[in-house]
Formats: sequence, C-alpha cells, structure tokens
Amino acid sequence: MRYLSTRNKNLDYSAAEAISTGLSRDGGLFTPRLFPELGIEELKKLSAMDYRGRAVEIMKLFLDDFSREELEDFAKAAYADNYDSTEPAPLHKIDAKTSFLELWHGPTCAFKDMALQMLPHFLTASLKKTGETKEVCILVATSGDTGKAALEGFKDVKGTRILVFYPEDGVSDVQKLQMTTQEGSNVRVCAVKGNFDDAQNGVKAIFSDEKLREQLADRGFFLSSANSINWGRLLPQIVYYFSAYCDMAANGSISLGDKINFCVPTGNFGNILAGYYAKKMGLPVNKLVCASNANNVLTDFIQTGTYNKNRPFITTVSPSMDILISSNLERLLFDLSGGNDETVKGYMALLASEGKYTVGPEIKAAIDANFASGFCDDAATKATIGRYFKENNYLIDTHTAVAAKVLADYRDKTGDMTPTVVVSTASPYKFCAAVLEAVGKKTDAPGLELIDKLSECTGIPAPAPLASLKSKAKRFEGSVEKAEMTGVVLDFLR
Ligand SMILES: *Cc1c(COP(=O)(O)O)cnc(C)c1O
Repeated sequence: MRYLSTRNKNLDYSAAEAISTGLSRDGGLFTPRLFPELGIEELKKLSAMDYRGRAVEIMKLFLDDFSREELEDFAKAAYADNYDSTEPAPLHKIDAKTSFLELWHGPTCAFKDMALQMLPHFLTASLKKTGETKEVCILVATSGDTGKAALEGFKDVKGTRILVFYPEDGVSDVQKLQMTTQEGSNVRVCAVKGNFDDAQNGVKAIFSDEKLREQLADRGFFLSSANSINWGRLLPQIVYYFSAYCDMAANGSISLGDKINFCVPTGNFGNILAGYYAKKMGLPVNKLVCASNANNVLTDFIQTGTYNKNRPFITTVSPSMDILISSNLERLLFDLSGGNDETVKGYMALLASEGKYTVGPEIKAAIDANFASGFCDDAATKATIGRYFKENNYLIDTHTAVAAKVLADYRDKTGDMTPTVVVSTASPYKFCAAVLEAVGKKTDAPGLELIDKLSECTGIPAPAPLASLKSKAKRFEGSVEKAEMTGVVLDFLR
C-alpha cells in the first residue's frame, strides 16, 4: 500500500514514511492510493472477532510494511486494561432503530483515545523502519481533549518525549487538572498565558524555527506532532465503524448486509471521514449525518456546496467542535473529485486567500449521495441531554447530544428510519457543568466537586480516571509567557 498527497498525487510514500512525516511538505494530507473493499464474507469473519482482532484485520490492509505480529502487539497494548470496559467501543442500544457507540472508555474519557492509544506504537515502529536515529519529541498545543489524550498515549513510551502547551484560561477545571497531574517520566505540561490561539501560534513558531531545529538535532532530538491529520490517527478510527456495524448485527438491530446510518458530532472532520472511508470500503452505510454545534460551517457546506469560514467564532458547551477550519475535509474533497490534486489545491488556495470556496456539481452530487447534515445550539444540546436522561436513564455528554438532536431533526425532516448509530465521543463527566444544568441541577460549585455532584444526582458513577483526579498530586504548575515557550522546549530536551 502506497500513499500520495492530496496536493500532489505523484508522491509515493510507504505507510511508515507517511506516519513519520505526518503532513506532506506541499501542505497536503497523506492518503492511501486505494481503499481495499470488503464483502459480506469478510464482515462475517470480522463479526466473530473481538475489537482487537477487528483492528488487526482492518489496519493490516493499509499497513503492509508492518507484520501481522507487530499489529497484534499494537492492538493488545492499545486496547487493554487502559479501557474500563471489556470491549473498547461498546454499543448502547436505546431502541430498535438507535444505538450509541461509546468511544470514551479509554484513559482520558474521550474518543481521541481510540487513535492516540495506537499512534505511539505506529510512530515508534515507523521511525525504526525509516531509519530515524534521533529521539522524537511530540509537541502539542491543546484546547482540551487532544493534549491529554496525546499525553496518555505517549507517556513512558520508549524513545519518545511529549510536551503539551495549553492556554491558562482556555480549558475547563477538569481538563486542567487532568493535565497538571499527568504521570510519566517523559512528559512535560506547560500553561501559556493567553488563549488557545496564543498557545497554538507559539507552537507553530517553534516548528518553523530553523535555528532551534538545528540546536535540537545536535542534542539528538527532533519535533513531531500528533494532530488529527496524521494517517496514523485516522486509520484506527475506521476500525470502530466496522466494529459498530458487526455489533449492530449481533444485538439484533440489523442482519448482516443491511444498511445503517451513522450520526457523528464533527469538528475537524476526522471522525466522520473515517466513517466515509469505511463506507467506501464496502461497509453497508446509507447516510453519514454530520452534526455540528452553532459553529455550523460544515452544515452549510454540505447543504450548499460552499465552504465559508468568514463568520464569527462561537464558544459553545461542546468546545471540541468549536472549529471553523475542518482540516480533514481536504481528504474528502480529494476523494470526491476522483483524486484530482489540482482541484484540491485550487480550493485550498481559495480558502487561504478568500476564506471560502465552492465545489463543482459532481462533488456536490457525491456529497448529497453520502452525507446529510444539521446543527443545534447550546439550549437544544442541553434539552437533549435532559430528555435522554429522563426518558432513557442514559446520560450523554454535550458533543454526543448535538448528534442526538441532529439525528432527531433529520428523522423528522426526511422520514429516514434506517437503523442508526450515534457516535458518542466523550463521557458526560468531562463536561459536568453543562450536563448538571441539563439535568436540572445548575450549581456554582468548583470543577472537581461537580464530578461528585453529577454522580450523586444521576446515580451513574464517574469513570475512574476522572473520579480519582482529586487524590492526584499536581506535577506541573505555574505558567509562562508565549515568548518563553522556546525556552521551555530547550529546558525539556536536554
Ligand atoms: C475531537 C472531538 C470531536 C470532534 O472530532 P473531529 O474528528 O475533530 O470531527 C467531537 N467530540 C469530542 C468529545 C472530541 O474530543
């Protein structure tokens, strides 16, 4: 299996090269040259396996420079007792037509664990295969979930270090404590005075600092990122779409071969893109419903064919979806244009210069054939959490609630009652304040007390990694100015 760039299809990389490099030098995203197709027989085979087995089978199709044994070891390490459920991605059936795919049973209680528990294994093996001798340091600017998930993924992984910057005023109390108490001998966490943009711009400046790069190389280090455009983060996500389908057949919602819908709370378009790739590989999927919060740039794009980021940025109760530029959309455009790198380059140039572009009629028709979309505001999000709890005794987080609401609207509007999997991306205990308000217990108590309050009033226990936060020692306190970030890197990589 070879990989090309969405902006230059003549590039030809191995999987190990694509994963170690992350982003192509032309600014494009690495994408497999072809997507193997699976038939009903293969689905039957997958159905008989556990999640780890399914992961090996799917990953093997794209990573032929890795041995089956390697992949089996990775799957065993990535999805083990770091998960609090026997299967890492269980389905919760609500009714005959609706199940929730719970992707938050990992160490940080959000779906990013599904990929970030796997990526360090891919990356360290890829670096070996490509002959890299320097030690990698993963550098992350985070607004919440990604940084913690990357820390948990890379902690104590041999031959790696990880340094995470977060905005001092830009993460929730629980998220901050998750990071300041991070364990591991190869980790460093640092608060930056300012907002997320300050932290992110600081990290970008570090990546493009040639002098620093040379200085670090002399010390035997190089910097890399763990963001969601790396192929090594997308691939593990394809697995849970197949796994959910198999489990829908097992729980009697469908027979193997029947079509289902997925409804996905979307930000950077990574999660739902993995669903699109699964569909392309032959998974019987009717529609992928793209759910957004008040930052509804994707809803508009899917409905009109025009992507327009020129709009106010809105802070919502589903912060991991507060995004105006969905980076992974580029891979969808590449695929829907029939692999036309020139077309993609044109759209991305327009996005950079004008902040908007409009796709041609063929791409728009392909979007209509595969996707539906919708969005909802914070009030509707909270109302949906309240309703699910009252009617089903099922507690969902703010991101998942956006998807649940958009699905209800979609069904009302279209009458499409295809059995549907709602992709559930975080534990409600990560967003206690909004969830408490949604179930009618608004409170001013500080962050950590909210965890106990929520479990008291719902009778649903908090996940262990969050419940145990209050007894953990803080390791990383204080904050730095943006201008001091380079100094932190140099101090960490001695
Ligand atoms: C990151 C995240 C999302 C958005 O996922 P994308 O791949 O960026 O679309 C949704 N929900 C939660 C809880 C997240 O952490």
